[in-house]
Amino acid sequence: MRILRVLQSQSLPCRCFVGVYETYDGRTLHIIDEPAAGCRESLHQPGYVVSAGTPRVSDASPGRSAR
Ligand SMILES: [Zn+2]
Repeated sequence: MRILRVLQSQSLPCRCFVGVYETYDGRTLHIIDEPAAGCRESLHQPGYVVSAGTPRVSDASPGRSAR
């Protein structure tokens, strides 16, 4: 999955900063940019993908399964 561009940056409730990136397939990724000093989540390291959103384009077909 390749990054197309940076959309914005956000802070999480735990005060870590994440960058919101758009990928070439139209998804958005939230990737830890700068962990907060007080964050207790050990997974929140730079480069950790917090969440991968759904594609922004409207053809959100659920895939080829269960037809
Ligand atoms: Zn955190």
